[in-house]
Amino acid sequence: MTSVPSVTLSQRGVARLSSGHPWIYRSDVRGAASVAGGSEVRLVDERGKFLAVAFYSSSSQIALRVLTRDDRPADEVVAERLRLAVELRERLFPGASAVRLVHAEGDLLPGLVVDRYGKALAVQTLIQATDARRETLVRKLVELTGATVVVERNDVAARRHEGLPLQKGVLVGQLDGPVPYREGDLDLFANLLEGQKTGAFLDQRENRLLAGGLAFGRALDCFSYAGGFALQLARHAASVVAVDSSEAAVAELAANAEQNGLQNVESVVANAFDYLRQACERGEKFDLIVLDPPAFTKSKEALDGAIRGYKEINLRAMRMLRAGGLLVSSSCSYHVDEARFAAVLLAAARDAGRSMQLLEKRGAGRDHPELIGAPETRYLKCFFLRAL
Ligand code: SAH
Repeated sequence: MTSVPSVTLSQRGVARLSSGHPWIYRSDVRGAASVAGGSEVRLVDERGKFLAVAFYSSSSQIALRVLTRDDRPADEVVAERLRLAVELRERLFPGASAVRLVHAEGDLLPGLVVDRYGKALAVQTLIQATDARRETLVRKLVELTGATVVVERNDVAARRHEGLPLQKGVLVGQLDGPVPYREGDLDLFANLLEGQKTGAFLDQRENRLLAGGLAFGRALDCFSYAGGFALQLARHAASVVAVDSSEAAVAELAANAEQNGLQNVESVVANAFDYLRQACERGEKFDLIVLDPPAFTKSKEALDGAIRGYKEINLRAMRMLRAGGLLVSSSCSYHVDEARFAAVLLAAARDAGRSMQLLEKRGAGRDHPELIGAPETRYLKCFFLRAL
């Protein structure tokens, strides 16, 4: 058995660790020069006292990702965490066919994301340590879930920081086209290899179900992708317009609508900014509008532009709501935090000359848990508002 290397933390690194954050930056690490990327390491303070077990990266500025404060082998901890992650979803959503099974740091399984669609899993190994353990992780996941197909969606830019190639493909079994799964009372398909993200945006699942139940009259779903919101709305609304700039997404939406016999959804391939402006100019009115755009910024530097974008779409949506109409407005930009998003919505309401009631501030579904002390694990805001 090879012994586990020790890595010394600076005092600042020790303080960071005790704050509960699972990331430690390279500038707070001493004596890691000879450690191989992807290794399990024991963290010690400057006096040599054991602090935690972590995964080491040889290239990222996030040099260490903490696994446990107990002095235990990493593999044993990972096996336990996988079991706990799967168990949480079974308790929260018994029998649900599509859920996020593993939410990386949120489940204290750093650098590992697993989404489940029926009998298929989509896996992302985002750091050197989880990438090096990919086969073992996949074997354990298959044991825990009974999955028959596993794909990797490692075509994620974050892997570049780890010096890992961007790639995707089938790891276990055979993928025969889009994978069927259920969401609420709908039968949907996810395209695990070609779709955006891992095939669907599971973080909005609970918000889609809530919005669906509240829908009435004429609804609009902007940034609709494969129809996640639009089709839930269509079950209760008289009619739905769905807008997305991706032709592939709109084609998937049409297939999903047909599969469920929903004929009241009109889909439009368009830039949602243009659509909203033109619909506003035409004086169109809606009873429910969903805004679920992609992240408008991935950096702090681009924050101002992002805020202008959020304000514009929300302002137009608020103008088009009938009294009593609902706005389900999301932002998945981590850098636009909840307070800032609330401020943008207020500014939009003022400019629209509307009074808005706040019904609920929501986030990602409970299968995307946030790790207390690690704000990066909270990114999605989803506000339910009502126009007066
Ligand atoms: N609401 C969806 C997920 C939306 S993801 C669901 O619940 O499943 C964001 C979507 O916005 C993607 O489908 C992307 O194609 C689309 N998109 C990105 N920029 C756009 C733009 N300017 N106008 C319209 N759609 C856009």
